[in-house]
Amino acid sequence: MHSTLSEPAAHRAPITPQLLARLPKVDLHMHLAGTLRPATLAAFAGRHALALPRPVESLYTYRDFYDFIDVLRLGARAVRSAGEFERMAYEAVEDASRSGARHVEMSFNPQYYLPAGVPYRVQLEGLVAGVQAAMRDFDCSALLIAALDRGLPMDSARQAMDDIVGRRHELVVGVGLDGPEREGPPAQMAPLFQRAGRAGLKRTAHVCEDNQTLQEAPPSNVDDCIELMGCDRLDHGYNLLADADGVRRARDRGVYFCACGITSVARNRERRLRSLRAMVDAGLPVTLNTDDPAMFHTDIAHTYATVLDGCGWGWDEARAFSLAGVQACWLDDAARRDLRERFERELDALQGELAGQTER
Ligand SMILES: [Zn+2]
Repeated sequence: MHSTLSEPAAHRAPITPQLLARLPKVDLHMHLAGTLRPATLAAFAGRHALALPRPVESLYTYRDFYDFIDVLRLGARAVRSAGEFERMAYEAVEDASRSGARHVEMSFNPQYYLPAGVPYRVQLEGLVAGVQAAMRDFDCSALLIAALDRGLPMDSARQAMDDIVGRRHELVVGVGLDGPEREGPPAQMAPLFQRAGRAGLKRTAHVCEDNQTLQEAPPSNVDDCIELMGCDRLDHGYNLLADADGVRRARDRGVYFCACGITSVARNRERRLRSLRAMVDAGLPVTLNTDDPAMFHTDIAHTYATVLDGCGWGWDEARAFSLAGVQACWLDDAARRDLRERFERELDALQGELAGQTER
């Protein structure tokens, strides 16, 4: 089929859930704690005599953002043995792969598990085993990101960074920063992040998240994450839209924003979609990701469907997001190039199919 004929036809084709499941995708902003299947969390909680706040069927239905954080913290207390970390990581890759993810970068918070007496060594051992087993069983590669929570004491952050830098593993490719931004400006983490950078780790941080006000998460935090913390990419970024100069600076730097289409609180979803659209319209490099897929009742195919439908986007945008994910990922150069070639082949094949359907 001639490409000049097939391309416009592909643009008119409906973007169905079946198509999006087959679209090759990358997920770069996914918290392992938020990937726990409800049944897995219930099983772990039962094993450690932790009470669930409500029945397992409604465990992931939240009153508000802070109720969601409570459930996330329950998950943190419930994962303790290397075997449990292994199962968490394995199931996360399995679920991602089922929705057409070919590569994922999953973050975990070492600080969450230390109070229950689970050392970093045990966390790492389990997570690495789970990722390696999943990569053998599923058509999806995976890397790990060790994240600090800005809501926890600085002593705990320093301890975690000692572990992260002291026990390097090739699968732990970078560090992240999450937790409510109101708890402190990115600058306070700059020395720890610079240390991670000297150790050869990539850096990302949650910034300008829209569950925080402009005072709590000001656009200037994006500059600080890049200039003071040395971030290679950023998570979220919506509040940056309030500052046109900040948007221009971010666009000039070309740092990717790993945004998410689904939020913990349903009433914020329309606003999230408007922000995503505005970020893309402003020319910011944006990737689509799930954040906490199990806990938000989503997966990467559903996230694509929600965003494309909500923003009135079609095939061109689906293809662009798919390739942006590859571009922003932290695989080494050779692996990223291979992944990109694979994605382009699969995207071309899908596009040809779409064009055929439209012409019939
Ligand atoms: Zn997140």
